[in-house]
Amino acid sequence: MHADAAGTQATGTAHPGAVLIDGVAVAKAVRADVARDTAELRAKGITPGLTVVIVGEDPASQSYVKSKEKASIEAGMKGETIRLPATTTQAELEAIIDRLNADPTIHGILVQSPLPRHMDANTVVRRIAPEKDVDGFHPVNVGKLLIGEKDGFAPCTPAGVQELLVRYGVDTKGKEVVVLGRSNIVGKPMAALLMQQGPGADGTVTVCHSRTKDLAFHTKRADIIIAAIGKPEMLTGDMIRPGAVVIDVGINRVDDASNPKGYRLVGDVHFESARAVASHITPVPGGVGPMTIAMLLKNTVRAARQAGA
Ligand code: NDP
Repeated sequence: MHADAAGTQATGTAHPGAVLIDGVAVAKAVRADVARDTAELRAKGITPGLTVVIVGEDPASQSYVKSKEKASIEAGMKGETIRLPATTTQAELEAIIDRLNADPTIHGILVQSPLPRHMDANTVVRRIAPEKDVDGFHPVNVGKLLIGEKDGFAPCTPAGVQELLVRYGVDTKGKEVVVLGRSNIVGKPMAALLMQQGPGADGTVTVCHSRTKDLAFHTKRADIIIAAIGKPEMLTGDMIRPGAVVIDVGINRVDDASNPKGYRLVGDVHFESARAVASHITPVPGGVGPMTIAMLLKNTVRAARQAGA
């Protein structure tokens, strides 16, 4: 798995078709590493513990938390989910977080979003002890990411993108990286990760958003494009420089009468046209998606190691 993102110059000739970046395989490899690290910690008497808190009945969120608990247990951790009714008050949730913060057997705490409307998500995330905030959304961890302090936690989805780039040998050093989207969950931390010094970073990063004047101007000169805008198939092949690496974070439902579910999932990238020009591309599903939980586990095992140190 090796690629020099800028190695293929824009020649205008047809590209033979991009290498598919297999997020399922990479996530499996990361989870195997985590399971090995967990076993090592357990041998020293520390069982990494991840507690996910969910408030309310949102079906998609219920399914995400189930996957997180299952994955943590499969890795050998103590994984548990605290399910609270939608009527839970902010004070009750904060009291639970305080209890988890004080429990030395719990190393990672994640409060699933979205929270019910009567709760203030910003206050809730600040209540989690930064050293247990394995989701990486506490302002202390956001600050550490920006400063480049390695003992903080980066948000799992952008960290997963970086892991894909590293494991596929994509050279990011000095490369033009264009991040589409500036959310606190994906775009901003993605840019912060890629502008740091070190492997999978050292990029020259441009961040685009809905107010960017000419998106294609930026994407066409990018060696690496990371799309996280939540707009189905918006980035098309004609906006991509031949040989660029294309990472698609988007997960969008589009109507599809031919599918028994009535919809199908597509990314923010128009896959077929992009694949024809890119050197590497992530599919949706099966690209970035599986990396998020893998990185959550990776953060948790590090939280346990740091707590035991
Ligand atoms: P948000 O809606 O929070 O942010 C979208 C960003 O894209 C905003 O910064 C917005 O700009 C920008 N944007 C919207 N439209 C355009 C446009 N036409 N041109 C340029 N920029 C635009 O989304 P998220 O960051 O939370 O998620 C992005 C996508 O990634 C979604 O499809 C989501 O489902 C997916 N996702 C996938 C995850 C995974 O595990 N694989 C995890 C998290 C998200 P502005 O700030 O100006 O409004």
